[in-house]
Amino acid sequence: MKQSLCKFRNNGNTATLAPANLFLAAGSDEVIDALIRCFCCPGHDTILICPPVYERYSIAAQINDVKVVEVPLDPQQSFQFQLAKVKNTLSSDPSIKLIFICSPGQPTGTMVSLEDIQDILLNASWNGVLIVDEAYIDFATERGSLATHVLLHPNLVVVQTLSKGFGLAGLRLGIAFASLDIAELLNNIRTPYNIGNLTIHVAMEAMKDTYMAMMRTNITNIRLERDRLAGELPKIRGVGLVKGELNANFLLFEVLDSPTNQGKPCNRSAMKLTESLVSRYGILVRYKGNMHGCHGSIRVTIGTEGEMTRFLEGVTSILESMYI
Ligand SMILES: *Cc1c(COP(=O)(O)O)cnc(C)c1O
Repeated sequence: MKQSLCKFRNNGNTATLAPANLFLAAGSDEVIDALIRCFCCPGHDTILICPPVYERYSIAAQINDVKVVEVPLDPQQSFQFQLAKVKNTLSSDPSIKLIFICSPGQPTGTMVSLEDIQDILLNASWNGVLIVDEAYIDFATERGSLATHVLLHPNLVVVQTLSKGFGLAGLRLGIAFASLDIAELLNNIRTPYNIGNLTIHVAMEAMKDTYMAMMRTNITNIRLERDRLAGELPKIRGVGLVKGELNANFLLFEVLDSPTNQGKPCNRSAMKLTESLVSRYGILVRYKGNMHGCHGSIRVTIGTEGEMTRFLEGVTSILESMYI
């Protein structure tokens, strides 16, 4: 199975990943936990994260008694990665052992450039490991996976999952691509039989041409719907900006307060829309108003054309009734 995963991510590149570059776990959540246990001393070391971001990194750090420092993405610049600030923080805090970058970002959809990533990897004064979480990479339009770059940088780990692009979240298969040394360390600390036969069997099936073709069709459709929604949503009265970038299978958008109340992004309105979408339409979206730079925002996962049309109708009708 490792060979199939390598073949998939080598993707015609000249540099070639081998099974010894891989670590497999029950979902990338287990990979994240393993990385922290592998490289951080409890009660002593720190990880760096860039909010707003997937919450598992800080939860896993807390569970392992590891500290978290935050260098937020820039909400004024589509949630761009703040390279200079990250470098400053690295030089001022020697306890930082890991950096978690989510690219495409969750919940922002924004990607971190290869140049910024290389800048950190080549920074001679920092000796830690940079982790790029590519859970949503198959939906990205800007560029492909950085998996093969682990062959060039001994301090890079690329994390992926079959949960999103493949649509196999229940399978629980997470993957880390890493240098031989790091892959060996991770494999040494895992429990002996952490991946079951059934998972391996289904993952092998998923890697076959027919399923891959199906996955590519799904991804094409999701991208089309995502881009349609990004155009349609802001036309609805009460919807503000679509935030971040379009590289994942979701959108982040603002809900506004009523025009008589200044019409600014508003957490109360976002919460109310979230609740009404579930109760009146059975549509589950995620309220993100409490995350950095996400005031009044909701994250919606892209589904089929029919589902998204119904979602647009729901948002229009609920916001209309809220503004009367
Ligand atoms: C969903 C998600 C994961 C975890 O996926 P698993 O199901 O545990 O493989 C990791 N990172 C991000 C950014 C995610 O959105």
